[in-house]
Amino acid sequence: MEKRITGNVLSDGVCVGCIVKWTDDSITLDYTESKAAEVRQTLLNEDAECDRFRKVKNAVAAKLTSLLTCAENDSAAAGSAEKAEIIRSYIAILNDPELEKDVLQCIREQKVFLTEALTLTAQEYTYDMSVLEDDYLKQRAQDFEQLFAMLLSYASGNVQKRPHIEKPCILAAKVLSPIDMSEVDKNLLLGIISEEGGKTSHTAIIARSYAIPMISGIPYTEIKENDKAVIDTEKKLCVLNPDAATASFYAERTAELQKEKEYFNALVEKRALTEDGVRIELMANIGSVQEVSQAVAQRADGVGLFRTEFLLSEAGTDFPSEKNQFKTYRAVLQGMNGKSVTIRTFDIGGDKVYPCVHLPKEENPFLGWRGVRYMLDNTELLHTQLRALLRASVYGTLHIMFPMITTEEEVKSLLSSIERIKKDLHKEKIPYGRNVKVGVMIETPAAALIADKLAQIVDFFSIGTNDLTQYTLASDRNNTKIAHLYRENHPAVLQLIRMTIDAGKKYKKHVCVCGEMAGNPLFTQELLNLGLRCFSMTPANIQKIKKEILSAKITGADKKQKKEV
Ligand code: PEP
Ligand code: MG
Repeated sequence: MEKRITGNVLSDGVCVGCIVKWTDDSITLDYTESKAAEVRQTLLNEDAECDRFRKVKNAVAAKLTSLLTCAENDSAAAGSAEKAEIIRSYIAILNDPELEKDVLQCIREQKVFLTEALTLTAQEYTYDMSVLEDDYLKQRAQDFEQLFAMLLSYASGNVQKRPHIEKPCILAAKVLSPIDMSEVDKNLLLGIISEEGGKTSHTAIIARSYAIPMISGIPYTEIKENDKAVIDTEKKLCVLNPDAATASFYAERTAELQKEKEYFNALVEKRALTEDGVRIELMANIGSVQEVSQAVAQRADGVGLFRTEFLLSEAGTDFPSEKNQFKTYRAVLQGMNGKSVTIRTFDIGGDKVYPCVHLPKEENPFLGWRGVRYMLDNTELLHTQLRALLRASVYGTLHIMFPMITTEEEVKSLLSSIERIKKDLHKEKIPYGRNVKVGVMIETPAAALIADKLAQIVDFFSIGTNDLTQYTLASDRNNTKIAHLYRENHPAVLQLIRMTIDAGKKYKKHVCVCGEMAGNPLFTQELLNLGLRCFSMTPANIQKIKKEILSAKITGADKKQKKEV
């Protein structure tokens, strides 16, 4: 009988196929060695167990290294950079001397066999993280779990036999680790269903980079091998055992989507000109170095927003160093090959919390110590980031952007920090770009209302409609209960966008929209009518918006705007 289950969308898409079940990899204690304490002690040879751990560790390290080599050799394939990065993070966890120390100590102090020591250590490592609310930490707990699961399967001589996937299928798992993902041919994956896993999990990142639809929150016990299934992320739905009507509906829908995909692929090389010949810039929003390749593949005119917060997620408990930041910014600038790259300074606070940033609990975090408010009070962090950015600026066309601005004073203070860092670099004879542009996000009503003043002291604006909408309409952007109130095209929001664009025009300052609104085709004509000529969005939406642009007409006074020659 057909069963419809609502899940969490981890990677967009619609697919229909037969299920192949992946084995359950969650950590389970191997009771064969968990005998009664007194029996165990007579059998246990602690030295031999410690020795066994080193051998298991070497075997897992060898496996990870060979997977890493494959990923690196296959660097042209979609998702291989992400995969390599994930495997490197597993290797780093494995090589941490603390891990070996803790497992060996557990064997000796608790008088247990290796498998039990691994189970206990894994529980200790992951417990603290998994009970936290923070999604990112939960996902990192899963990384630890998955590495320990690998150690355990080698320790128990029970390296799981994986299903051999030979034809296109929907893969179903309780949890699917990035290592598991590296072992399957992604070209044969129509979709992925899992019970666990969030949007920031490494597996979800890989699924997105291969454009494989993925949905989580589907109980593994409900799923039967070889049953037909549908994933429809447009409806956040997984249909198990679809009946004839559902199956034929989705056969048609997938055919339509395939046609649409081919149509969008054909648009990639086309320039974004309106029907009446006005050139529109289509930029990419990215959140990691890996996404540069997607921006390039979609022929983005540049990066309109690089959210740098991923550096904070990956930094563990220490703030990312100047050197690490520099390398990241340089890689993005080099990857974009001279096209402009707008890098936003850390937007800490609100819903963005990280292990290396110690934020106090606030009553209203979205109205609290957020964005530049936090950075201006933590000048060491601000200066480290600005130094890294300015040093990297010689490798491309850098624009520095500040989030969460509400006053002119904040901007002036940030501009003087930049000047101070430039002077320091000059004294230290460290090169930096002379033409770095500095701009601000217009994402608070206050910033939009004083856009006229701000335009006189900055080089550009980028309108963050995600926050601008929530602050203007007093509607939390993440609260589904009031989602009906959160409307980017509410007249009040449109009025603030218009004011910002007008201020930009008056002072000849570049204006872009980098909130989700820019990537939504429903709003393209409206934004063009307001005078917007630069849209920045997730690379996956660029062709969708280009399609709108190609058939759009510039109305009113803007008609005279320069045409593409
Ligand atoms: C925005 O607020 O529109 C924006 C682009 O920033 P973020 O979504 O990162 O808050
Ligand atoms: Mg914002």
